[in-house]
Amino acid sequence: MLDINNIRNDFPALHQLVYKKPLVYLDNAATTQKPKVVIDTLLEYYNKQNSNIHRGVHYLSQQATVAYEEARICVQKFINAAYSHEIIFTRGATESINLVASSFGKKFLKKGDEIIISGMEHHSNIVPWQLACEEKQAFLKIIPFNENGELIIEDLEKLITEKTKLVAITHISNALGTINPVKKIIEIAHKHNIPVLLDGAQAVPHLKIDVQELDCDFYCFSGHKMYAPMGVGVLYGKEKMLEELPPYQGGGEMIKNVTFEKTTYNELPFKFEAGTPNVGDGLALAAAIKYLEDLGMENIKLHETELLKYATKKLSEIKNFRMIGTAKEKAAVISFLVGNIHPSDMGIILDKLGIAVRTGHHCTQPIMDFYKIPGTVRASFALYNTFEEVDVLVEGVKKAKEMLS
Ligand code: PLP
Repeated sequence: MLDINNIRNDFPALHQLVYKKPLVYLDNAATTQKPKVVIDTLLEYYNKQNSNIHRGVHYLSQQATVAYEEARICVQKFINAAYSHEIIFTRGATESINLVASSFGKKFLKKGDEIIISGMEHHSNIVPWQLACEEKQAFLKIIPFNENGELIIEDLEKLITEKTKLVAITHISNALGTINPVKKIIEIAHKHNIPVLLDGAQAVPHLKIDVQELDCDFYCFSGHKMYAPMGVGVLYGKEKMLEELPPYQGGGEMIKNVTFEKTTYNELPFKFEAGTPNVGDGLALAAAIKYLEDLGMENIKLHETELLKYATKKLSEIKNFRMIGTAKEKAAVISFLVGNIHPSDMGIILDKLGIAVRTGHHCTQPIMDFYKIPGTVRASFALYNTFEEVDVLVEGVKKAKEMLS
């Protein structure tokens, strides 16, 4: 069992008042707060180690290079990738997906080809594929979901044709909380020799990820949703896939040799890391991973599952409460509406009570269209949230309902 009160002491941002009320931070699917060890790692880097890495002859550069490459190994072990060069540092999940969509699209997409995504993707896992398809006159096909917010994966078999080039699916929906049956999806796609990209932005902070066990071809995530800083993320790709893809951006670091006649590219992972990397945030990402590993992903999952159960029960007791996303397999995300109250009105009142939630379409407009709603109020939980905070949320929703009805 996690000692949550002790854990909360690791997060300076949690101990503040907003509008003279203790902050109840329930916007973790948007970004998590950072433990002191992550902030300190960043400070330490800029106070002492700061220098440009790789090819540096001087002491600081060599120290920073070693630390950055150790951070890569830390990520590799965290998601159990086979090799550290399968870990590409990016700015976040969005950039990771754009990288694959652009490079994969350039190399493998032809006129009339198809990419399959699902109806519950974040815009980050829709628009890059639309851009790639537009360029090559290829098509997007969509796996539908049911009223509970569960993918109808029987439809995947029907959608696959000999023109299907890739399947790209979110591991956990940020708007519905659904944990998708990604292993099954990968099995189906692989039966047809189709590679699969998983958008793990919402999964990595909550589940133990093993990319070899999943057998996914690409896995993407952002540091800032897993207690690390903004501006750093990861693309995992199977060595064989990454070897085949052309570079995404050109510049320093990604080359082996440049002449005006012909440039040859660097080996993995550097082929995909053009320009000066975000060293400090890379080191801080490794610090966040160590923090999570010390707590234990299983323990985190247990705690968050209990929070989800408790919050679902308590909120569901409120008259006219409607939960959007009631999948059997769910992460600790609750999207909801109450009666006819507009989500942003509810969000504004909760804010005045010190409760930080997100309102709107959560960058998943097709989901909102499916339910024919303008948006939802979303409370998303992290390892440091408490049952008392759930009680504050429930009382806040009741109060807002009273004021707005
Ligand atoms: N995918 C999912 C499921 C998300 O929830 C998000 C962000 O909310 C993203 C992708 C994009 O992440 P980022 O903005 O950190 O690149």
